[in-house]
Amino acid sequence: MFQEIGPHVFHNEFRKMLPGEGDPLLVLDGNQILLKFHKSGSISLPTVGEIRQLSEAAGKEAFYLFSIDEQPFFLTLREIPEKALRQGERFRTEAEGFGEQKAGQIGHEGESSYSYEQLNRVREMEDRALLFGAAVAAQLGQWYSLHQYCGKCGVKTVRSKTERAIQCPECGHLYYPRISPVVIIAITDGDQILLTRYKNAPYRRHALVAGFVEIGETLEDAIRREVREEVGLSVKNIRYCESQPWPFSSSLIAGFFADVDGDRTVHLNTDGGEELAEGVWVSREDLVLEDPNFSLTWDMVRKFKMHEEPV
Ligand SMILES: [Zn+2]
Repeated sequence: MFQEIGPHVFHNEFRKMLPGEGDPLLVLDGNQILLKFHKSGSISLPTVGEIRQLSEAAGKEAFYLFSIDEQPFFLTLREIPEKALRQGERFRTEAEGFGEQKAGQIGHEGESSYSYEQLNRVREMEDRALLFGAAVAAQLGQWYSLHQYCGKCGVKTVRSKTERAIQCPECGHLYYPRISPVVIIAITDGDQILLTRYKNAPYRRHALVAGFVEIGETLEDAIRREVREEVGLSVKNIRYCESQPWPFSSSLIAGFFADVDGDRTVHLNTDGGEELAEGVWVSREDLVLEDPNFSLTWDMVRKFKMHEEPV
């Protein structure tokens, strides 16, 4: 799955560390992140040294986020002016950053370009550890970026020196990283699983019923509500399968299996823009696995196919 980056190891402990020239640096512009496009076609994060060339101020304000193995990742909240970016397009790279080891030929003769892109484009990165690092860095970056002022008194906040938190120097309020819990439910009826597709989703892949947990709900409450709302069914025997951090929506996704309870006739939700296009019962035997996309959904469907789901 997405978070499985072995043999690399994600080190999330709060630390203070100064950036080195070759360390990857995350730069944000609203919901977009700055990516470096290599002549070879590969994508990486720009390095601290490269950003310093583009904007000294942005490089100077870089601060530590986390490490993967011994490789630290940094963030700057300072934006880089468009003009500097255009100049950077002709910037010649020498030392290549993390994630480029496999493509040792890149960069020596290469001209690279930088541009702000939607976060989803990191999924085009070939290096799985870099992909994971970039997405997690972007999630942290968006959280830092959205808490630069205290929501209570409007004063400019500061980063805590002792933990991953943001503090208001005026009222003392502490802001911690925001994670939105999501449930995904594989509804089964004996040897059949209910697969759905979203009408407006960019990827027309198999989906399972899913949704954000609302305030005041347990995970089980959210499961029963989402299943009722989306496909008009009741479920029983809810059992936990596995979980997955999903930085693309600042979520932690918890995957469950549940048995349909009573009538198994699907009534699709037709309210709102996110409605399901279809909901079909598919038997284990007829289930065709799609190409893996590192998602929890894919892994749960795979588990069902292989008789590996929790019973
Ligand atoms: Zn405050």
